Amino acid sequence: MKSKVIILGAGFGGLELATLLSEALGEDAGVIVIDKSDSFVFGYNRIDVVFGKTTLDEVRLPYDNFDKPGVRILRETITAIDPDTRRVTTQSGVYEADFLVIALGADYDLAATPGLAEHGNEFYSNAGATRLRDIFPSFSGGSIIVGICGFPYKCPPGPSECALTLHHYLTERDIRDACDITFVSPLSTPMPASAEMAQALMDSFEDFGIRLLRQRTVVRLDQGLATLDDGTELPFELFLGVPKHTAPQVVIDSGLTENSWVPIDLATLETRCSDVFAIGDIAATGLPKSGTFAESAALSVSTAILERLEGRKAERNTGTGTCIVEYGDGRVSYAELDFLTGESLKAIYHPPSIAGKAFKNGFDDTRRERWFNLQTAAR
Ligand SMILES: Cc1cc2nc3c(=O)[nH]c(=O)nc-3n(C[C@H](O)[C@H](O)[C@H](O)COP(=O)(O)OP(=O)(O)OC[C@H]3O[C@@H](n4cnc5c(N)ncnc54)[C@H](O)[C@@H]3O)c2cc1C
Repeated sequence: MKSKVIILGAGFGGLELATLLSEALGEDAGVIVIDKSDSFVFGYNRIDVVFGKTTLDEVRLPYDNFDKPGVRILRETITAIDPDTRRVTTQSGVYEADFLVIALGADYDLAATPGLAEHGNEFYSNAGATRLRDIFPSFSGGSIIVGICGFPYKCPPGPSECALTLHHYLTERDIRDACDITFVSPLSTPMPASAEMAQALMDSFEDFGIRLLRQRTVVRLDQGLATLDDGTELPFELFLGVPKHTAPQVVIDSGLTENSWVPIDLATLETRCSDVFAIGDIAATGLPKSGTFAESAALSVSTAILERLEGRKAERNTGTGTCIVEYGDGRVSYAELDFLTGESLKAIYHPPSIAGKAFKNGFDDTRRERWFNLQTAAR
């Protein structure tokens, strides 16, 4: 089957790109989106699932609700990508397009950290978050590690959110004194792109008695023991991990990756193959792997496609996005980041506040409505 545009992956990047092309071209958009899942889940909702604030069923956004002129979403698993011919194979068929956009996100490589699957837990996938949700109610105390097993990983401040929310969760259950929390991060600060956000996070860790080990990575787990890359051994009763990230195998097999990610022209997001683009976590941009950066990349690629189809003006990738941090006590902080429009990174920091929570709710509501036609959730 031949179409104008095939978008691989219906995550932040794919959903936004399909929406933009539908808005611009209407019924003539000729867009096919292929995703193996039946629904989308915002990454940050997984932390809410871990701490029992919601369930996965409550936060799933079914693709059946993504109803846009000129766009079809196919629920199929992509098994092969030929970037030279822009041909995609799934378990159900073969598709060809004038433009191919790879937005397949990042997968988790648990095997890269020996013992992680057997002796630890991860909170970055739907399955991992659900498993932890079941474990926590019977947890009564001991050492807990929030540990990162590789870089780059999605949402730089995500693990900090987890550590802070964990502190408040244990406090509410009146078992905080029976627990110690250690946070292990490969980064120099919890949020390198915003010094102010990083400092506020480190101040909170100190206030809440969360021990921070920086520039260290978890490389191995044994029963109740985590080993870091500098040889440090940390005993634990509960390990909450961020697994090493990698490109989905089907993208590696396509020959498009180098060192796990797809090299692109940072200004256009085009790969080494013409009319083949990569956006979001899969692309080797060097920018944060975060939904909002996938969205700004989608905007740029939509204009590149419209330029080639209709002679409109293409816009360069701005490298803009917003990193949002839940403090776990009702407050939210966020940083508006702009990596590419000026000479150097611009960061506008908003300290943690209750108003920040309203900002995050607005972020969530806007996308639920824009992509899934769902009206504002009752808060
Ligand atoms: C705990 C956590 C908190 C986060 N918080 C935030 C936040 O506050 N703000 C923010 O902007 N970002 C946040 N993120 C990051 C954000 O979720 C990702 O950066 C974003 O989803 C990347 O978008 P994407 O389009 O590149 O890929 P994804 O959204 O991951 O979408 C990729 C899609 O490809 C599909 N796919 C993969 N392989 C195949 C295949 N072989 N066949 C068919 N389909 C396939 C998947 O099913 C998936 O739907 C968070 C992430 C986590 C884990």
